[in-house]
Amino acid sequence: MNKNHSQHELLQDFHIDSFSDDLINWFIQEQRDLPWRQDQDPYKVWVSEIMLQQTKVDTVIPYFNSFIEQFPNIESLAYAKEDKVLKAWEGLGYYSRARNLQSAVREVHERYGGIVPNNAQEISTLKGVGPYTTGAILSIAYGVPEPAVDGNVMRVLSRVLLIREDIAKAKTRKIFETVIRDLISKDNPSFFNQGLMELGAIVCTPTSPSCMLCPVQEHCRAFHEGVQRELPIKSKKKASKQVALVAGILMDEEENILIRRRPSEGLLANLWEFPNFPKLDELGTAKQQLQTFMKTEYELEVELGDFLCDIRHVFSHLVWDINVYVGRFQKQSFQRSDLMLVPKESLKEYAFPVSHQNIWKAFIK
Ligand code: SF4
Repeated sequence: MNKNHSQHELLQDFHIDSFSDDLINWFIQEQRDLPWRQDQDPYKVWVSEIMLQQTKVDTVIPYFNSFIEQFPNIESLAYAKEDKVLKAWEGLGYYSRARNLQSAVREVHERYGGIVPNNAQEISTLKGVGPYTTGAILSIAYGVPEPAVDGNVMRVLSRVLLIREDIAKAKTRKIFETVIRDLISKDNPSFFNQGLMELGAIVCTPTSPSCMLCPVQEHCRAFHEGVQRELPIKSKKKASKQVALVAGILMDEEENILIRRRPSEGLLANLWEFPNFPKLDELGTAKQQLQTFMKTEYELEVELGDFLCDIRHVFSHLVWDINVYVGRFQKQSFQRSDLMLVPKESLKEYAFPVSHQNIWKAFIK
């Protein structure tokens, strides 16, 4: 079956205009009052969409408000220190989002005179701006009828149009983008896209869709067939990789804490953390390994005290199990630029990943 044919079949007998009107009218009445909906400033739409990737709305709201307060426009973010940007993002996770956002914003400032491009061709070349963010910015800020397909939208449309493709596969997104190009309101693409996202967030939820309250129930094929809970089709992800780590809160006699900056590439790049390394089963206890690691890696003799805690942190693809110890060492200066001794009260000025914030919380408790 060729693409056009299947596309044609998907929308056969489907009342596109009436679906779109019902969705938009519902959105006008029921939309949540969210800080990024107060205006259509493309920069703010952009920041909010990047923050909302993989993160819940309630979590994002305070981060968005404080981020916009610190970096109210393209220029202020373009020239901010990366440490300050990471600090403002601390706790939100997926820190490459913040770094990509800043470098893309810098490009907008330098290449497009500080105006976010209003076409897919230019905007989609910006770092960290994929098809979803492109569609969200173009439709919400500029009223361009461009699809913005995320997991919520695929769920809603899988149900409404009875699409049984596996949404875990990257190529499935294309099917939804093509369908949306036909469905999207040309008069109000912003509310159409936001309506779909909002419906997925508060009505057509993953496990218990509120079909009785749904504004597009009469259009929904899954509802009519009673199969809404079976959709969307989503194959299971591979099991996460488990990594055991040993970390130390290590301090000198003046209680300055030793912290280390993560490499500038890869997971949690450039964030700060307490020294740690992957535990090896065959090399003695975690405590002995920490002592050896500090000696060989940093030429530092540490005297370790008791075990402090175990911290578990779950990423989307990885689980860290961290054994944490507290230790002391003789004051000395370090030549390495990735190491720093920081007074306890100044630690809050550095951006740490959530797992290491939790280590610190356990320590001060
Ligand atoms: Fe989702 Fe139910 Fe509405 Fe269909 S009727 S779109 S399954 S909430």
